[in-house]
Amino acid sequence: MSAAPLLPQERRLVTAIPGPKSQELQARKLNAVAAGVGTTLPVYVTRAGGGVLEDVDGNSLIDFGAGIAVVNVGNSAAAVVDKASEQLAAFTHTCFMVTPYEGYVAVAEQLNELTPGDHEKRTALFNSGAEAVENAVKIARAYTKRTAVVVFDHGYHGRTNLTMGLTAKNMPYKQGFGPFAPEIYRVPVAYPYRWLTGAENCAAEAAAQAIDMINKQIGADNVAAIIIEPIQGEGGFIEPAKGFLPAIVEFAKANGIVFVADEIQTGFCRTGQWFACEDEGIVPDLITTAKGIAGGLPLAAVTGRAEIMDAAHAGGLGGTYGGNPVACAAALGAIETMKELDLNAKAQRIGEVMLGRLRAMQEKYDVIGDVRGRGAMIAIELVKPGTKEPNPEVAAAVAKACHAEGLVVLTAGTYGNVLRFLPPLVMPEHLLTEGLDIIENAFTGV
Ligand SMILES: *Cc1c(COP(=O)(O)O)cnc(C)c1O
Repeated sequence: MSAAPLLPQERRLVTAIPGPKSQELQARKLNAVAAGVGTTLPVYVTRAGGGVLEDVDGNSLIDFGAGIAVVNVGNSAAAVVDKASEQLAAFTHTCFMVTPYEGYVAVAEQLNELTPGDHEKRTALFNSGAEAVENAVKIARAYTKRTAVVVFDHGYHGRTNLTMGLTAKNMPYKQGFGPFAPEIYRVPVAYPYRWLTGAENCAAEAAAQAIDMINKQIGADNVAAIIIEPIQGEGGFIEPAKGFLPAIVEFAKANGIVFVADEIQTGFCRTGQWFACEDEGIVPDLITTAKGIAGGLPLAAVTGRAEIMDAAHAGGLGGTYGGNPVACAAALGAIETMKELDLNAKAQRIGEVMLGRLRAMQEKYDVIGDVRGRGAMIAIELVKPGTKEPNPEVAAAVAKACHAEGLVVLTAGTYGNVLRFLPPLVMPEHLLTEGLDIIENAFTGV
């Protein structure tokens, strides 16, 4: 019941990427798995840990994806494996809504303590990020007795019907999957790199436009919730210009609107703080979490002000598997690991190394329009030289070149022109540096 020894922390290529065994498996995948479920890099993984993924062909790849910001503590982190294995052997499921267990309560207590603000809080657990966002909307509507929900340009909140509606980008998330839920309104976000009158005007102008749209098109009194990612994830790691988030929070407060921070991608030390909204001292009314919470096991949460969380009637929230005991045990192991290894400090260090190297590359390669992000949530936005015109072709070519060299990188962005880097926070620095060398070589090549 104890964790396997850490894999050798090295990049090792013994075949082309993907290798022959991965290609065989990919052929089976194409015949067995629905086409709508894509794969970014079809290497089939057998083991993973620290900063590497090992595949069926014996290759060892450097991981700049962390399963999309999930394995912040690394794959199969010792405390996650130990606690989850022990729980797995004791019991796997009772349904918390039928006969409860301590792990769920302990996770709720941890989240109530770790999330911003020292007010009284409550937590409810779910299975996925989308489910957490849906429940935040249910709770905000029950509390305010209003219906409208405000979201932002470039926002991403999931793939269920309600959260597709909340998500901005059509392809691939929404195309052909409508109709979408009503009472969802989208307003501008402060995207400094693309703000037409300049980054210095971005926060104030974007906030004024968003607030004006809410007042004029919806009516502030009709708005139950404003939902925003403190750094937009799928939208391209857009860090709203400083001052924008506080202005929106202030407006929400003045108008009795529940402010929801969707920290599903930014949470759990990813940005060098427990939660990204701490950066501007924001205390959300509700906060949604998932991805990094449980070291890879499916778990999600809504945490927030007791009076708001308790507004939903008994039996109104829940789900068969929500807060599964094994996932809760894993979360307790993951949170313990984050504290013990001081993963906030590790994320900050990753950010320093990455931003330094990537800014130096920006000087050399004129397709790199913007370098941004915080902690271990860093991205570069690629453009046609001398313009800000999105360059998704170069993003795809660089990603492909990195993959061929055994570095897992992901793309993002409304225009598909952003490369995003999300290493596990336990990645050793020599792998981080080697990964950055591979990125630099890829730019030289394209
Ligand atoms: C990934 C993500 C979601 C959806 O989470 P799932 O677990 O995939 O349902 C929602 N919001 C944000 C900000 C995300 O990054």
